[in-house]
Amino acid sequence: MIKVIGFDLDDTLWAVRPIIIRAEQQLDAWLKAEVPDMIHDVTSMRGLREEVVSQRPELAHQVTALRRTIIETAMVQSGIDARRARQLATDAMETFLHARNQIEFFDGALPAIRTLAQDYTLGALTNGNADITRLGLATYFSFAFSAEDVGAPKPEPDLFHKALSHTSARPHEMIYVGDDPQLDIDTANELGLRTVWVNSRNKPPGRTIADETIEHLEDLPAAIRSINK
Ligand SMILES: [Mg+2]
Repeated sequence: MIKVIGFDLDDTLWAVRPIIIRAEQQLDAWLKAEVPDMIHDVTSMRGLREEVVSQRPELAHQVTALRRTIIETAMVQSGIDARRARQLATDAMETFLHARNQIEFFDGALPAIRTLAQDYTLGALTNGNADITRLGLATYFSFAFSAEDVGAPKPEPDLFHKALSHTSARPHEMIYVGDDPQLDIDTANELGLRTVWVNSRNKPPGRTIADETIEHLEDLPAAIRSINK
């Protein structure tokens, strides 16, 4: 008996790459307007990633804190004093996150979520920094955990353990829906969860086989039904 359905977000419910590109463009425009003394732009800031992670390795998997720290570092390197840099980096990050959450759902995503929310506890487990409240999904999702919250990204099991303990579900009572054959499907299968692989891009499978594989989210409710029969 299935009680809980967990979702990966990026590339499962929407395409993430165009969103990140647009969010970085908006961040760049904001920096040019608000911080004209910056010697870095979004492209040159990518070169600071390694430097920041070598000084603060704990940031490697904290996508939001890492990006904020890179922006702050770029400002300090541009001669902006530390206190002002901290405030400006927070404001810059708000611009980025606002744009990062302007997503366009794949066809069928919202109808499937609305249907499934009537019968199951839904939630999100993500390595990224999409925010279900900003996305308008909080109405349907009763939990959302990020790698940043739990301290370790998929394929570590921490996000799945967190969802199971939060919902008091046993592994076989939860279905996980994701696009990545290794990070999502193999990890969830090896923890004893049931799985639906959203393989809209015809990727090769990982080490394990999903219970159901779909190409379009319109088919998700039927896939869930056939697992839960
Ligand atoms: Mg994904």
